[in-house]
Amino acid sequence: MTQEKKDWRKFGFRTRAIRAGHERGAEGEQSEPIYLTSSFVFESAQQAAARFSGEEVGNVYSRYTNPTVRIFEERLAALEEGERCIGTSSGMGAILSTCMALLKAGDHIVASRALFGATITMLETVLPRFAVATSFVPLTDPDAWREAMRPNTRMLFLETPSNPVTEIADIAALSEIAHSHNALLVVDNCFCTPALQQPLKLGADIVVHSATKYLDGQGRCVGGAVIGGNALVGTDVFAFMRTAGPSMSPFNAWVFLKGLETLDLRMRAHCENAQLLATWLENQPRVRRVCYPGLESHPQHALAKRQQKAAGGLLAFELDGGRDEAWRFIDATDMVSTTANLGDTKTLITHPASTTHYRMPPEARALAGITESLVRIAVGLEDIEDIKRDLQRGFDALR
Ligand SMILES: *Cc1c(COP(=O)(O)O)cnc(C)c1O
Repeated sequence: MTQEKKDWRKFGFRTRAIRAGHERGAEGEQSEPIYLTSSFVFESAQQAAARFSGEEVGNVYSRYTNPTVRIFEERLAALEEGERCIGTSSGMGAILSTCMALLKAGDHIVASRALFGATITMLETVLPRFAVATSFVPLTDPDAWREAMRPNTRMLFLETPSNPVTEIADIAALSEIAHSHNALLVVDNCFCTPALQQPLKLGADIVVHSATKYLDGQGRCVGGAVIGGNALVGTDVFAFMRTAGPSMSPFNAWVFLKGLETLDLRMRAHCENAQLLATWLENQPRVRRVCYPGLESHPQHALAKRQQKAAGGLLAFELDGGRDEAWRFIDATDMVSTTANLGDTKTLITHPASTTHYRMPPEARALAGITESLVRIAVGLEDIEDIKRDLQRGFDALR
């Protein structure tokens, strides 16, 4: 019996995360199949011609489309509530594909100063060679975004909350600025995931993801995605991706599918642990400040509450001291992993000033609040008492 294609919009978030995109095949498989094949066979020379010309819809070659990748794309599109999703080889592949597909020489971008390091490097060193310029502005100041707009501004680009100091952008306000200038708002939704925030519903035109982080959720595969409308993403980004080649591997797509099934549960648990840890850290005598949107002391606590379902799994805190104290703290921990990734079940600890943000000029770092004594924690899903006990070793080392 053939199943009818379901309208996933009628289902709840968790149901979509578990079931959207997969229509059971002739084998009656319960788990999504992995199609590890580079090309697809045609029934006739005539069908081959029809597939190549686009007259007939169907698989040709896995750089263009792949059935396992398509399940992932349909599922993530259902979660972000966008018309189309294109899976990519990495988060940077998603951002590059978006820029290359939607911009041309002479265009201008206004972007948040607080972006993922490789995104800044791409905007500063790769795109200018193709005559696309970027102005960087403070994430939280809509007036600065408005003033940076030029007649040729085609795109606004941001991440919220920012990494590592968790500043929050008002997505709806920035989408109005973008649209009043005929520009597109692109939001990197890596930190919140659609479980906590759906930028398309707040007015964004495009969402990009590093699937490497919370969508996988267990630190296994590198991948990315672009989500948006049929024209911008389904036509333009897809056309670039299938020609230029930053496509998602079907095996990775399958791992991400398994990750998505537990996304809502995991994000709730990350947020719960992060909230408990942030509150504990705020009461430590050697801590100067804690950056976490779930704390009432956070300057944009009210905006975060309005815009996000919960405050996220990422926090940062500033120790009383400098780099020496931060490094001593990190080296004294025993369980948490010293690594720059995030979005893992395991708790991760980093010193942003000397790792993820070391390329930033010191003045820019200071402006962004990334001081020498700032420590970032991507809070995992271990028992909160074990995480606290491990960080206590850090505080003990400062005595
Ligand atoms: C990691 C990350 C990226 C890049 O993703 P990759 O999968 O590593 O290419 C982009 N944006 C944010 C916010 C990230 O954390």
